[in-house]
Amino acid sequence: MAAHYTTATGTPWLSLVIPLYNEAESLRPLYDAIKEALGSGDNYEILFVDDGSTDESLSLLHSFQDRDESVRVLHFARNFGKAEALAAGFRESRGEVIITLDADLQDDPQEIPHLVSTLAKGYDLVSGWKQHRQDPITKTMPSHVFNAVTSYLTGIKLKDFNSGFKAYRRRLVDELHIYGELHRFLPALAYWKGFRVTEVPVVHHPRRFGNSKYGARRFLSGFLDLLTVLFLTRFRRKPLHLFGTLGLACLGIGLAINLYLTTIWLQGEAIGTRPLLQLGVLLMVMGIQFLSMGLLGEMLTVSSVEERGRTHVYEVIEPPASPTNSQGEAGTAASRIQAAPQAGQPSRQAGWR
Ligand code: UDP
Ligand code: MG
Repeated sequence: MAAHYTTATGTPWLSLVIPLYNEAESLRPLYDAIKEALGSGDNYEILFVDDGSTDESLSLLHSFQDRDESVRVLHFARNFGKAEALAAGFRESRGEVIITLDADLQDDPQEIPHLVSTLAKGYDLVSGWKQHRQDPITKTMPSHVFNAVTSYLTGIKLKDFNSGFKAYRRRLVDELHIYGELHRFLPALAYWKGFRVTEVPVVHHPRRFGNSKYGARRFLSGFLDLLTVLFLTRFRRKPLHLFGTLGLACLGIGLAINLYLTTIWLQGEAIGTRPLLQLGVLLMVMGIQFLSMGLLGEMLTVSSVEERGRTHVYEVIEPPASPTNSQGEAGTAASRIQAAPQAGQPSRQAGWR
């Protein structure tokens, strides 16, 4: 198993990114389970992200580090939340493949090879589906609703958006920037950028120690985040299409109402006390506001596009190199990359941008 993860460059091929907040009791069994699943080798790293724990977690991590070079620790001075912990872990990780898992022993490291082999089939993100979720019903029920609505609205057919157990390719991690609580929507954001996303069932265990760090409040913030994601995926590069549509609709209806009132006013009828007049004026003002917001959004979009980034990934497919290829060296170099994919990765990765 372990040999599967070697890389020619000496850096680990696989990074495990594990966010944790006050999980002292779980860390030792988790560490042992990882070692049992992956063997001891220098071809993977375990990156623990201590999200400002106030218990013994940090000193335990140091004790792992004392005798294991594959353990790296990121320490936050205070609790920033799981998404920030993951973002920092992604940034510091070095592997071509990155696997995130929770520190509370609910995700089973024995599933790691399964996630990796699915990724190798040509996916960029493999999400673990907690098919038999071992959590109280107060959590699983709202989660079902959340998953169904998110799947419907984002258009990506996943059954479990709340899973922290996922495998990613480096190029996807480098491309996505997460913050707030958007980590739940990484599959949706990735899918919208054109990455290949899939889901595999994984074993899920009940929490053995400590408490869940999230209460029911997460579902409210989850739905607000869903709004953000819908906006970011559909309208990020064209905010005027959303605000402009709303603006024109309000403006049009307001204008029609006011034209009607003007006509009957010209015919001598009093309109000063009619509620319809207030509605008409309100709609017109709202319409103009929506339109201006959309135009401001467009201005922000233009500057962000000029500064950096794109919303999609694409593959450059070069013509096959031939001995008579006039580009000589360049052609040969391209074909060399194509011919030598890294272990477990599809050859077309070489051409990804
Ligand atoms: N976590 C974290 N920072 C936080 C909250 C949670 O790093 O502010 C970690 C936590 O230690 C665990 C993972 O995120 O490793 C998932 O948290 P939890 O088990 O509480 O969530 P649940 O399984 O209930 O969804
Ligand atoms: Mg948990």
